Amino acid sequence: MTGIGNDTVASVHYTGTLPDSGEEFDSSRGAEPLTFLVGHKGMIPGFERELMGAEVGDTRSFTLEPDDAYGMPSDEMIQEVPREMFPEEMPVDLGMTLMSDAGPFRIVAITDDTVRCDFNSPMAGKTLHFEVEVMDVRTATPDELEHGHAHGPGGHHHHHETEDEKGDDCGDDCC
Ligand code: ZN
Repeated sequence: MTGIGNDTVASVHYTGTLPDSGEEFDSSRGAEPLTFLVGHKGMIPGFERELMGAEVGDTRSFTLEPDDAYGMPSDEMIQEVPREMFPEEMPVDLGMTLMSDAGPFRIVAITDDTVRCDFNSPMAGKTLHFEVEVMDVRTATPDELEHGHAHGPGGHHHHHETEDEKGDDCGDDCC
């Protein structure tokens, strides 16, 4: 039986919780398992490391410090954007998450002239707990290795930062 390792494609069900509060922040249960190419930086580092060698049917339970997950929030990821950069008809409220070419950001302050935009991941700085069950492991195809991500059902990245990454299948515009 193949175990999870570099250049395999793994499908897993997972539930992520915040250890402090027990709050569930993400889960694949009730949907397709998460499918990803291992060893190509598609996942947060600790997630892959903890699953190395796991086979179909195995379960793993682990807690990741921020360095092994989404890193620490950085002041450099917070930008002051002139108010007029936002279309007039666009609602701009404190706490909103909006999309941009540079990825999603949260509005953390608003003045008459500027909007302060925080591009840090909402998961940055957090310790995360995962319960994972391995549903499938297979060898990656040459196409997948070339593209650096999994293809087929459930093939997408763990964190959806752009619309392009949400595609379940790679079309002509893949990569
Ligand atoms: Zn592709």
